Amino acid sequence: MGRIIQNNLVIPLPPKNQTEFFKRMRPSKTNPYGFMGKTEDWVGLLTSDERERDRLRITCEQMASAIDTLFATDELLVNGNHIQRILYLTGEMCPWGDFCSTALFDLTPKVTEILVCNKTAPEAFQTHFRNGLLTPADYRMIVQNNWAIILSDLHPHLLREHEFQEGKQTPYRIDPRKLKEYLGF
Ligand SMILES: [Zn+2]
Repeated sequence: MGRIIQNNLVIPLPPKNQTEFFKRMRPSKTNPYGFMGKTEDWVGLLTSDERERDRLRITCEQMASAIDTLFATDELLVNGNHIQRILYLTGEMCPWGDFCSTALFDLTPKVTEILVCNKTAPEAFQTHFRNGLLTPADYRMIVQNNWAIILSDLHPHLLREHEFQEGKQTPYRIDPRKLKEYLGF
């Protein structure tokens, strides 16, 4: 039904130190895009994102709720934009080590990622999108072209608990203006 149940990690795995924390944050073999780019400045990112949220008058809670709502529906469209649900066996663990959307040892496929296609994207891309032909290798390209946004079931937690939108060099970044435009909240 395209619904997911979010669970707290059975065993919390907080990073041992700052080095480990940033290792989890940056691109790696297990997380090729990372939660932020290789060279992005952590404090600068958080500061500019907070300023932008204030300027746009959008809160982390508003963004988290809109993403939660999307994960909880089986609709094919949101705000006129097509939705594509991606199933994985496991969800991404929060880099702070305090949350994962899937339980340990539960290997039932779940929707852990949702792509929303921009209704203004080229028709050829929209057809490709609706046929489910996108792969994670395409993600950077589609986000740069503003043809789609990529949402993870980890995003609501990152927004609420850590006020973190992910870095500007990852296609998983939550851009408040784009999120509002795509989801129409
Ligand atoms: Zn966390």
